[in-house]
Amino acid sequence: VSDIRKTERTRLRRMYENGSYNRDEIYDIIDRAFICHIGYVFDDYPYVVPTNHWRDGDMLYWHGSSAGKKMKALRDGAKACVTFTHVDGFVMGRSSGSHSVNYRSVMMFGQAQIIDDADQKLVALRGFVETLIPGRWDDVNPLTDKDLKSTMVLGMRIDEASAKTRTGGAIDEPEDMDAGCWAGVLPIRTVIGEPIDDPELRDGITRPDYLDKFSIG
Ligand SMILES: Cc1cc2nc3c(=O)[nH]c(=O)nc-3n(C[C@H](O)[C@H](O)[C@H](O)COP(=O)(O)OP(=O)(O)OC[C@H]3O[C@@H](n4cnc5c(N)ncnc54)[C@H](O)[C@@H]3O)c2cc1C
Repeated sequence: VSDIRKTERTRLRRMYENGSYNRDEIYDIIDRAFICHIGYVFDDYPYVVPTNHWRDGDMLYWHGSSAGKKMKALRDGAKACVTFTHVDGFVMGRSSGSHSVNYRSVMMFGQAQIIDDADQKLVALRGFVETLIPGRWDDVNPLTDKDLKSTMVLGMRIDEASAKTRTGGAIDEPEDMDAGCWAGVLPIRTVIGEPIDDPELRDGITRPDYLDKFSIG
């Protein structure tokens, strides 16, 4: 089990007992999130951008338009803070103050680097598609040179990060325990829906087997 080194920046001060620097835990939270939020300062003002991401080993990747000023700022070394969040439940205590949420989250810090080499970029973008929908890359038309030119891929090494997790029920004060209200946890889950066929789907095309891996709720 390898821990990510704890830095002054990633040392949890509030509810530190809910923190972890365990690489496997951190990667699990990152991999199960469909989006991250990338925060950085551009022109003296903070921006927080929701973005799809993917991971390969100890590298986090995301992509964006090559023409984007902000992608360029990150490419040029803007310091970034990236967060990943899962809300797992509403925790409902017997007083308004004992309400909370169950969650898993990661914060990571670093500077991105551009993935410029054409082959590496293609491998990275394949990783993106295959992370979201395994089996999709080989099923669809390949990327064109134009697609590749207009897309910038950035990668950030995951070596300064922390996870924070809350689980369990409400923590009520003893004097609230005789309240007449319901208390408990309302679990929250992300559900994949039934696939919707494109209206212009060519005759004879059926849904691919790789969609079966998604559990439809
Ligand atoms: C869905 C959700 C809802 C939340 N709602 C609230 C709320 O309503 N009010 C509230 O006060 N807090 C809430 N939190 C917790 C919040 O994210 C912070 O942990 C908390 O506010 C303490 O912030 P701080 O900067 O004082 O933490 P500090 O402990 O000073 O932060 C120091 C370092 O600890 C790490 N860290 C801190 N928070 C997190 C985190 N969430 N995930 C991973 N690493 C972390 C980072 O590396 C950070 O740099 C919520 C968290 C989540 C995920």
